[in-house]
Amino acid sequence: MDTKKCKKCAEEIKKEAKQCKHCGTKQGIGPCGVCGIIFGLFILFVITGGGNSTQKNITTKVDNGKNDGSYAVVCAQNEVEKSLKSPSTADFPWGIQGTPLGNDKYLVSSYVDAENSFGAEIRTYFVCNVTVIDTKSFKCQTECAF
Ligand SMILES: [Zn+2]
Repeated sequence: MDTKKCKKCAEEIKKEAKQCKHCGTKQGIGPCGVCGIIFGLFILFVITGGGNSTQKNITTKVDNGKNDGSYAVVCAQNEVEKSLKSPSTADFPWGIQGTPLGNDKYLVSSYVDAENSFGAEIRTYFVCNVTVIDTKSFKCQTECAF
């Protein structure tokens, strides 16, 4: 017969006993019962809580304006370089920042120094409206005015 010790008086009692026959102390849930509850909660978390936390992460990413703003700047620079005669000579100033307009849209306004078709370095000012579509692949919808 399997026995266990009472939590309170340490007398031997039946393993499945819910109450000690010596002192009457309730034995509560055994270790396996606790395991079952934890396992059950874990399953519940995976099914319901897990999904919620994934959604939370996505929301946090979108809300991280500074991060997405820098993506918008990269997109704007790529777009500006496309319009230059010599993209390899493009020299953007440090610290360009995108102004968040909401809904993943940013206004990027700055200038670029680059050589024109005559080999002379000229400064071109630009204003780009950037919508960040995918931050992983620098995918943006970009419209620039010079
Ligand atoms: Zn007892």
